[in-house]
Amino acid sequence: MKESKLKISWEKGIKIEPLNLWLDPLSRQPLAVVSHAHSDHVRRHHHAIMTPPTHILIDDNLRPEQATLLSYEKELEMENYSLRLIPSGHILGSAQVEIVTEYAHVLYTGDIRLKQWDGTQTYIPQADILIIEATYGIPRYSFPDPKLVLEQIYDFCRKSIKNGYTPALLAYAMGKAQELMKSLSPVGLRLALDSKSAAIAEKYRMLGVDIPDFIRLSNGLEGDEIVICAPSSRHELKQLKRVVAAVVSGWGLEKYGYDPLVRAFFPLSDHCDYQDLLEVVKQSGASTIYVTHGFAKEFASDLVNRGFNAVALC
Ligand SMILES: [Zn+2]
Repeated sequence: MKESKLKISWEKGIKIEPLNLWLDPLSRQPLAVVSHAHSDHVRRHHHAIMTPPTHILIDDNLRPEQATLLSYEKELEMENYSLRLIPSGHILGSAQVEIVTEYAHVLYTGDIRLKQWDGTQTYIPQADILIIEATYGIPRYSFPDPKLVLEQIYDFCRKSIKNGYTPALLAYAMGKAQELMKSLSPVGLRLALDSKSAAIAEKYRMLGVDIPDFIRLSNGLEGDEIVICAPSSRHELKQLKRVVAAVVSGWGLEKYGYDPLVRAFFPLSDHCDYQDLLEVVKQSGASTIYVTHGFAKEFASDLVNRGFNAVALC
């Protein structure tokens, strides 16, 4: 088969030969595509291709020396392939990467979410070869309807405040925190953010996202606020006297259950759950699948049992 002329391998990132192209490598490379701004996908490459929002959102010290900023759906013609970035529904600026060569259509999902919290769906292009993330690639990760989870989060916040406690939602600073802000704004309570989430919220605003007003946790609370705080900024909660925390993450209490402040867990994710990963595979139409990240081995073997030619890359 012609597509077998492409060699896809893992060397601290996805390498496609003979294109000499890297996707989200974790070592500095001459030319790489950066699918989105989360730091586990970004290194300071010599030349990187990314969406304009990704270029703004990545840490200053990880910005490439040279960047090709490619808007969604625009085609970039390279010497022996063309490349297109397509929304992946994960965070602002996140992209699936479509690579068209004379041998095959390749689709790399990057971190992907098929169904948004508001029910809209991410479009999956057709491909011969799919490279898919499998962060939640085992059946036990099956997430409930986000609308129901958001209702539970509203209830948790209202009840905590009624009982004289400050509710603190522990959520990743980039993407999750800003989506939570937008989802919580109709509740009508003030939002307070840790410094990391606040800095990213300002960048989201600069990029045209309608982010509700917020105060900074470091300036002290005025009363009746909902706090949104990155797990890595957990120390910023120390100044609060009566606080109850809830984890907002696809990962279960296995990661955060040890924390004495944590009273609740809300499985709200910006990744696909197991069923949606299978749906991405189906919608892509690909017969050859490479699996990366998370439960890569488990998901690849699941796909093999379903009749696909699948292999775990890492
Ligand atoms: Zn990510």
